[in-house]
Amino acid sequence: MKVGVLAVQGDFDAHRKRLEELGAEVVLVRKPEQLDGIDGLVIPGGESGAFLRILGEKGVEKLKEFVRLKPTFGTCAGAILLAKEISNPEQQGLGALDIHIRRNAYGRQIDSSIRTGETKLPGGPMEMVFIRAPKIERLGAGVEVIATEGQDPVAVRQGRVMVATFHPELSDDTRIHKLFLESIPE
Ligand code: GLN
Repeated sequence: MKVGVLAVQGDFDAHRKRLEELGAEVVLVRKPEQLDGIDGLVIPGGESGAFLRILGEKGVEKLKEFVRLKPTFGTCAGAILLAKEISNPEQQGLGALDIHIRRNAYGRQIDSSIRTGETKLPGGPMEMVFIRAPKIERLGAGVEVIATEGQDPVAVRQGRVMVATFHPELSDDTRIHKLFLESIPE
């Protein structure tokens, strides 16, 4: 099983490490054509506007096609990229997940923090690292909530696409990455 990590910008290396620790073969995806050789993809945190600029129209189209077919997991900026509706400011998305997501939603004063949230995965509460994080403000009917922080859904899934507004790759807890790897057919 080969898992790609989009490596054009952002904190892709922490995902690479985590996935390798869990036994996956990781490909750092720097060119759109590398998407052809992988079974699943992680889109890391970073700056979602920069992802769009670096990928360009062709790269975005190729990515759109990929996420329709294969398991994809986005964290933070990756979550923004995968959403159907994006605000603050408005931005193009891949439309892979029926959610509305608001960028930089925690404001400037508390724009980064480590909190404890709840998850329906076995193993109890989860440490969650938020960095200039977005908030999911609307969930479409087919979207399943995997984790919450306070009242907010912070990890959700619809079909093959999963997103987290926090950074599970920066905590020791491996449950979210395991869940993603389990969604990739052998
Ligand atoms: N604030 C970034 C954005 O809007 C996301 C931050 C992150 O990925 N840690 O794209």
